[in-house]
Amino acid sequence: MSDLLKELYQEIIIDHGNTPRNFGECENFNKSADGHNPLCGDKVHLTLHLDDDDIIKDIKFTGVGCAISIASTSLMTQSLKNNSLDYAMRLFEDFSNLVTGSETSLKMLNEEDSLYALKGVSAFPMRVKCATLSWHAFKAAINDN
Ligand code: ZN
Repeated sequence: MSDLLKELYQEIIIDHGNTPRNFGECENFNKSADGHNPLCGDKVHLTLHLDDDDIIKDIKFTGVGCAISIASTSLMTQSLKNNSLDYAMRLFEDFSNLVTGSETSLKMLNEEDSLYALKGVSAFPMRVKCATLSWHAFKAAINDN
């Protein structure tokens, strides 16, 4: 990976860690879940509105945690908003592969995607849970009736 790309990725994480997007609670949510990563102390509360066609019309979060968990959640909400549930699940699989170092099995993500900024986490197994916490919360929210 080029130094320029590394720098860009670092900037994305710092930016989203300091100024998370979609922070708050959806006005009209029909799914919600809480996630907790005891290893680091990260906590996330996720709300979303899934419409009848399985499109994620709105998704927001509140929480406290390390820069990686906040940035990852912020980037996730940006990637999922206005996309289908099916797309979200496929992206989840790709993202899991990205942060656990299985880059070769990626189907959707590439270096242009902002989610790619979290690729560096794969070198730090302890931090993988920080990066995937919000995705697990998303899955839990989907299963919440
Ligand atoms: Zn963390």
